[in-house]
Amino acid sequence: MKVLVINAGSSSLKYQLIDTVDGKVMAKGLCERIGIDGVLVHTGSKDKTTIKTPMPTHAEAISAVINILLDPEQGVISSMKEIDAVGHRVVHGGEFFSDSVLITEAVIKAIEDCVPLAPLHNPPNLIGIRACQEVMGKDVPMVAVFDTAFHQSMPQTSYMYAIPYEYYEKYKIRRYGFHGTSHKYVAQQAAEMLGRDLDELKLITCHLGNGSSIAAIKNGKSFDTSMGFTPLDGLPMGTRAGNIDPAIIEFLAENEGLSAKEVINILNKKSGMLGISGVSSDFRDLDAANEEGNARAKLAKDMFDNSVKKIIGSYIAEMGGVDAIIFTAGVGENDRSVRWDVCSHMEYLGIKIDPEKNKFRGRQMDISIDWARVRVLVIPTNEELMIAQDTERLVKQSQLDA
Ligand code: AMP
Repeated sequence: MKVLVINAGSSSLKYQLIDTVDGKVMAKGLCERIGIDGVLVHTGSKDKTTIKTPMPTHAEAISAVINILLDPEQGVISSMKEIDAVGHRVVHGGEFFSDSVLITEAVIKAIEDCVPLAPLHNPPNLIGIRACQEVMGKDVPMVAVFDTAFHQSMPQTSYMYAIPYEYYEKYKIRRYGFHGTSHKYVAQQAAEMLGRDLDELKLITCHLGNGSSIAAIKNGKSFDTSMGFTPLDGLPMGTRAGNIDPAIIEFLAENEGLSAKEVINILNKKSGMLGISGVSSDFRDLDAANEEGNARAKLAKDMFDNSVKKIIGSYIAEMGGVDAIIFTAGVGENDRSVRWDVCSHMEYLGIKIDPEKNKFRGRQMDISIDWARVRVLVIPTNEELMIAQDTERLVKQSQLDA
């Protein structure tokens, strides 16, 4: 099945056309500056090309994508009918969706109902869905794949915040967790690598990138995760503070003359690795500064590594053990010093990385030493492939049901 995977942002739209038979990416690209002027960067049958074309709305962006996919020179298909289905990344599915879902008007309404929970992300995701329906017609099956859905299996003890219960009932304030598509994908890959059934494994998946989250996955289901009501919770990240004492918000607001919103903005955009180091949010820059003896860059990295270690330890305690720890995303796949520091002094838990194997980056491999009871795996994430596979599963299911 050929699935067009769409990730729509407020002024951008990423796409991949994936053949689910072999998981091959037939074409991919990015529309930028939607609503401003419009730029399409496309890689298809030829090398990367950049095209300037007006994109007043997302509908023109989708049209530009379809046109380039059909283009005799740059394209990879000869008719729009070759696109069997569309998979849309949607950030928030609230408590409505514990799995991906075939898009209907009722589903669109539920995604709209989740807008208060993700005011920056769900509206452009919805615009992307509507634009595809407009350009491709309503007969092409479309599926919504949520960042939050995989974590809906968490027990209440993991997802509740200890604030008055009425706020959960009234506003649905709870831990939702994000990066669910990535956690699910690498967990499935890990089970395959280990040659074991996902349902019998205890896994800890560390999605460490510009945004980072960790998940405890027990018997194939998310049991706990570090991001919470919003993606600000949990680990310190590129520019996000992660978990802090919430009283700091009022203290900063009063002493700096800021509104709560402005403080949250600082916690989202000026904190984390950038805030501590004063150098950069990018781990490559931190590693370089660290090597030059920059103490604050070292402090930022050490804080990050220690936070990852603390969460791994707490998840091992919660699940009563762990079979494998998985590192993924930009930092997890590439930064060997993070992996090394996180897994150091954990021999007593059966965790030990092989320094030679840890030298590799960006490729799927088991980096633990032979005797280690707990396997440490590096698995490049592939959220687009997971979206394409989920889309295929749901479309085939609906065809069987019809
Ligand atoms: P992501 O959000 O998954 O795209 O990850 C992006 C982050 O991965 C960047 O901000 C970098 O901090 C990090 N990263 C990418 N490549 C490397 C590398 N070779 N070494 C260390 N960190 C890297």
